[in-house]
Amino acid sequence: MVTVNENYLKLRGSYLFSEIGRRVNTFAAEHPDKKVIRLGIGDVTQPLAPAIIKALHEAVDEMGAAETFRGYAPDLGYEFLRKTISEQDYKARGCQIEADEIFVSDGAKSDSGNIQEIFGADNRIAVCDPVYPVYVDTNVMAGRTGSFDEEKGLWSDVIYMPCTAQNGFAPELPAKTPDLIYLCFPNNPTGAVVTKAVLQEWVDYANKNGAVIIYDAAYEAYISEDNIPHSIYECEGARECAIELHSFSKNAGFTGLRLGYTVIPKDLKRQGVMLHSLWARRHGTKYNGAPYIVQRAGEAVYSEEGKKQVTAQVAAYMKNASYILDGLKAAGYTVSGGVNAPYIWMKTPDGMDSWEFFDHLLKTANVVGTPGAGFGPSGEGYFRLTAFGKYEDTVEAIERIKRM
Ligand SMILES: *Cc1c(COP(=O)(O)O)cnc(C)c1O
Repeated sequence: MVTVNENYLKLRGSYLFSEIGRRVNTFAAEHPDKKVIRLGIGDVTQPLAPAIIKALHEAVDEMGAAETFRGYAPDLGYEFLRKTISEQDYKARGCQIEADEIFVSDGAKSDSGNIQEIFGADNRIAVCDPVYPVYVDTNVMAGRTGSFDEEKGLWSDVIYMPCTAQNGFAPELPAKTPDLIYLCFPNNPTGAVVTKAVLQEWVDYANKNGAVIIYDAAYEAYISEDNIPHSIYECEGARECAIELHSFSKNAGFTGLRLGYTVIPKDLKRQGVMLHSLWARRHGTKYNGAPYIVQRAGEAVYSEEGKKQVTAQVAAYMKNASYILDGLKAAGYTVSGGVNAPYIWMKTPDGMDSWEFFDHLLKTANVVGTPGAGFGPSGEGYFRLTAFGKYEDTVEAIERIKRM
């Protein structure tokens, strides 16, 4: 008889966004006259930039002509895109990452979920708390996390690194030594960043302990301050211990188009094996590549016009972020993030828990955010607002919160 992968049965319900949806729908049905403003979504709202649309149209036409039609893409992605990434995202920043160390994919969610496959089943993972849920859930599916403690909201075999106001929402080196360390800066959900010196400590720690860092750089384009690293490969020794994930979703609006890439330097070896070879084998066996059309669109992000246009889009989101940050501060709230990230992390007022504040904000201001507790126990008492909305809506939402 067929049995199921029982690890899936251990997964916690995808409670967060369905519960938000349920509460918002109930409220909207009861108050059809109220305009609800959503600052909870982690999805972009601006349309694709003209340079990207132009590249898409041209690539579509190529696919319709016998001379320029393309079938299966090369395993690692098209050379034109990997070379551009190597030059503009890495060499221009002084990082020696070669085109053949870059694997083009359909996004950072799939890569951050799939990457654990190339590691042994008994590896111990370390994650920030609060955290982007994909890192933990995919390790639950693989059977690496032990049992779930309902009361604490934690997995027995996961090393949690609390990110709290005390440590500026940046994790401290864990007391127990992990094998795999998931880091994401600028962070979702807290909007926190670490300096190059702090990231260097993590790289040194990983090299000293033989650990591997999986570095999610999905929000790299939002960095506005000087001493914040755009890539973990800016740190010395990172080629020996770090895998880096990138997405075109948040910097260029590809959430619906789908494109990302993963870097595995050839110097990264464990048990004498190049992790690059394992990921290449996985890519070749299980994946047939991001569409040619989309890879051409990705290339356009790096063109002179494309760069100008996507930079302007990020700036528009960051104008929302500053508005939220300044507005909430002026209204007396304790807030962080929002400077190098499109996320604002606010402390809930008057000792309310995350969900109490969610309901309060929805009823009083008709504004939707995301309860911090949904990202992990250390998110309790916090609330995430995003800068991805329209400017007018963002302004109105903050004016309403100020009047609460
Ligand atoms: C949005 C996001 C991603 C990107 O996902 P895509 O699959 O590329 O759209 C990756 N990591 C984090 C933390 C994110 O918030």
